[in-house]
Amino acid sequence: MPRYDLHSHSTCSDGLLSPAAVVARAAARGVDVYALTDHDETGGLAEARAAADDAGITFIAGAELSVSWESLTIHVVALGIDTGNAVLADGLATIRAGRTLRARRMADALALAGIPGAWEGAMKFASSERLVARTHFARYLVEAGHVASVKEVFKRYLVQGKPGYVAHEWARLGAALGWIHAAGGQAVLAHPGRYKVNGGGMRRLLADFRDAGGDAIEVLSPSHTRAQCTEFARHARVFGLLASCGSDYHGPGESWTDLGDLPDLPAGVVPVWNGW
Ligand code: AMP
Ligand code: MN
Ligand code: MN
Ligand code: MN
Repeated sequence: MPRYDLHSHSTCSDGLLSPAAVVARAAARGVDVYALTDHDETGGLAEARAAADDAGITFIAGAELSVSWESLTIHVVALGIDTGNAVLADGLATIRAGRTLRARRMADALALAGIPGAWEGAMKFASSERLVARTHFARYLVEAGHVASVKEVFKRYLVQGKPGYVAHEWARLGAALGWIHAAGGQAVLAHPGRYKVNGGGMRRLLADFRDAGGDAIEVLSPSHTRAQCTEFARHARVFGLLASCGSDYHGPGESWTDLGDLPDLPAGVVPVWNGW
């Protein structure tokens, strides 16, 4: 059976490898069908597609959209998008504009917490002002010696309730799914196990996602325990959603799960690639 990895990042968002390098790594690690899914950005897809053609693997054009649902930030992976579609391109541009404003406010908040120069610092790690993620701030705080590791920066500064966290309204769920479908893509709820909701909240999220036209959920993700993989396979069946899998790879030294390092989907689910 071909090996699928349908979630990963390059330097066009907060990954550490260029689009060509991340594709080469995926191919070398035995991935047969690979999707690049940078946060809110499609700028790396042309380079990645060319590299995938060179390596002889199947390329799926993707993105990971930042979305607000109720009081939570959730991520929706788009797969198989037409990158020339203006509806999606405009939607992503709107998300990125908000991202840049949020990053400025994060830098202000960090300055108040005794960490000056965080905007300039984060920019050293970002490839463009259009895509600044919390990850870039985290890498800077580690480099500047404020905190020992990226994980620790998130815990101490960058999650809700901590001094560098800035609440932000991303795209609405219905709008994001509309853009993805306008571009001919499938919408996949990313790493559902990461969202801080109780059982009722998760069922509400899955129902809203399905009712808004969502296609699939990530059943296999390094964010999930084995028990969660089983749980989300069951949710996929109950809610009539397809199942996806992705390493969410960000780069050497930062991601424990490497490209292609995923088990087979559990039995009883319909894979998101069923109709490809
Ligand atoms: P942003 O979209 O700018 O809010 O940044 C989200 C990104 O931060 C995610 O895609 C991950 O790459 C990274 N991230 C989120 N939480 C953590 C964490 N606890 N430890 C390390 N990286 C994280
Ligand atoms: Mn990321
Ligand atoms: Mn994500
Ligand atoms: Mn991701």
